[in-house]
Amino acid sequence: MNRFEYVRADSVADAIRALEGPDAQALAGGTNLVDLMKYDVVRPRRVVDINRLPLRTIEAMPDGGLKIGTLVSNSELAWDRRVVKRYPLLASAILAGASAQLRNAATTGGNLLQRTRCYYFYDPSTACNKREPGSGCSAIGGVNRIHAILGASDSCIAVHPSDMCVALAALDAIVHLEGAGGRRTLSFSEFHRLPADRPQHDNTMRAGELITAIELPASDFSENYTYIKVRDRLSFAFALVSVAAALRIEDGAIVEARLALGGVAHKPWRDRGAEQGLRGKVPDQSAFSSCADAILHEAKGCGQNNFKIELARRTIIRALRQAAAGTPQDQADKVVR
Ligand code: SF4
Repeated sequence: MNRFEYVRADSVADAIRALEGPDAQALAGGTNLVDLMKYDVVRPRRVVDINRLPLRTIEAMPDGGLKIGTLVSNSELAWDRRVVKRYPLLASAILAGASAQLRNAATTGGNLLQRTRCYYFYDPSTACNKREPGSGCSAIGGVNRIHAILGASDSCIAVHPSDMCVALAALDAIVHLEGAGGRRTLSFSEFHRLPADRPQHDNTMRAGELITAIELPASDFSENYTYIKVRDRLSFAFALVSVAAALRIEDGAIVEARLALGGVAHKPWRDRGAEQGLRGKVPDQSAFSSCADAILHEAKGCGQNNFKIELARRTIIRALRQAAAGTPQDQADKVVR
């Protein structure tokens, strides 16, 4: 049994003080952390329960955006009427993830911090650079059907498992952090990182920092959007490939495009060059196909996951087509139009 100290924080300042110690971890919904502790994948010396912190509200921002407290549950967020109306891409992505029970417990901040679902990461008897730096990567040359086709390294080919984060990446969300050094914000694309030679670090948070909120910018994409998640079964499964697509179309031409991919890389994948390439184009098959080719031109499989490259291409095209037609895939009732 691994012994750890349990601390219940009553304020953000308390939590930050408690998180300063070595190997301290914040506990919110616990839907990933508790499993990781039970599997002996992580061994925090101190668990800081942040559930009493006043970070459970969704506030309207003066500029028209929304600020979502880190403890807002995935269910509360997906069904908040402002989110449903103005950010349906986000609601749809959240409802594609996990199960209703897990979404009731899982929190907004925790969703950003969930760890990869690489089988080897969860099995302490195998080599894994992410779990134990320098030990090797069992997935390279091993069972790698679910692994990355973009942005991987010789150290790690794992993918980020979140659905919610794919939509947040497409919406250009902002992450609010607080630590001993004060408050700061990061753009969503700066928050998660590619593995390079330090796959043990999933993100760019500093030691002891706490996610306090996620901010959604005022600009929404409530007309032309879709979130498509392709997986082995229709519910309670992680994405093989997912695509969040959002378009702004004026006078028959695309004036702005946002596209983020999940299940293909160590972080939600954006290719701003490919998005830029859609500007001014008529939203048709030819434009969407060129966009998919641009995103995937450096995609590389590692054996069992080679099929993901063509799967991603088709999913990108389909998502863009659905977004352009204003027929989003409804993740709540699983109807695929
Ligand atoms: Fe570990 Fe990453 Fe390799 Fe999986 S892919 S075994 S998480 S180093």
